[in-house]
Amino acid sequence: MMENRKVTDSIYLIDAKVFGIPDFTSAYLIVGEELALVETGPAKSAPLIMEGIRRVGVDPRDISYLIVTHVHLDHGGGAGTLVKEMPRARVVVHEKGARHMVDPSKLVKSSKGVFGPLINEWYGEVLPIEEGRMMPVKDGDIINLGKGQRLRMIGSPGHANHHICIYSENEGILFTGDAVGIYLSDSQAQALVPTTPPPEFDPDINIKTIEGFFDLDLRLLCFSHFGCTERVNQTLSKGIEWLMKWKDTVSEMLETNASLQEITERFRQDTEALLGPNKKTDALHRWVMEHHLPMCALGYLNYFQRKKGERMQEGMFQQTP
Ligand SMILES: [Zn+2]
Repeated sequence: MMENRKVTDSIYLIDAKVFGIPDFTSAYLIVGEELALVETGPAKSAPLIMEGIRRVGVDPRDISYLIVTHVHLDHGGGAGTLVKEMPRARVVVHEKGARHMVDPSKLVKSSKGVFGPLINEWYGEVLPIEEGRMMPVKDGDIINLGKGQRLRMIGSPGHANHHICIYSENEGILFTGDAVGIYLSDSQAQALVPTTPPPEFDPDINIKTIEGFFDLDLRLLCFSHFGCTERVNQTLSKGIEWLMKWKDTVSEMLETNASLQEITERFRQDTEALLGPNKKTDALHRWVMEHHLPMCALGYLNYFQRKKGERMQEGMFQQTP
């Protein structure tokens, strides 16, 4: 039996159960006078999201905003499916990402380039969204849901250029998307791992983004992977520390021409040391090791190649978005 988790009196966590793994991917329902969902999960999770919304006691047809932190398929891939069930809803995304939701073909191609041909099976079919349903936003834009739910969009590049975080000003909550990393444990603030995919990841920009969060008045960070923590400053610091550490590691390894495989292996050792004693479930642990860390290694490699003005090896992934 699935249950939502109550974050505050008006914010609920719905588990999107991506890949069937619990405690891995969160969407958040925010209830003001109007309703907003932060993150949709992938298309495959749409039935679970609908069920989760109903469980709160509200009608999914009353949702006004589907806000996605960025267009990656585990965050916004389900928007095209959900918006069909939600006649009032507009899809909120950074203006640089909007065209990839209207025409997802490049996005799907790019994801296949990173993860391989299985992504349709993993995430479900990504449906295009009519332009009129889109609401492109930029840094500083406000969505006021009423009842004290004023949401500020915060441009937060690094993981992807078009990434936004959503700041609930009155509650002091930041919905971090993938900007701070993936948070994999309820109990250990240290169980934070970066998420650094090609083709846009840039550690320096990402670190600057996280540094900016210290200026906000925060009492809670709510991750898209997964759940919320009150340990705001420690967790933000950890995010920065990891990004720097892996940048130094990869930089050193590339001096001796290390391969992608070797970089991935190093990331696995670091992550194993961190997660081993705290891992939530075997399935999640396995996914991180088999899919997440190779993607992270590729993202760092791509960053250093971009810096040197080199192009990524053909076919490793497609450019965009
Ligand atoms: Zn992402």
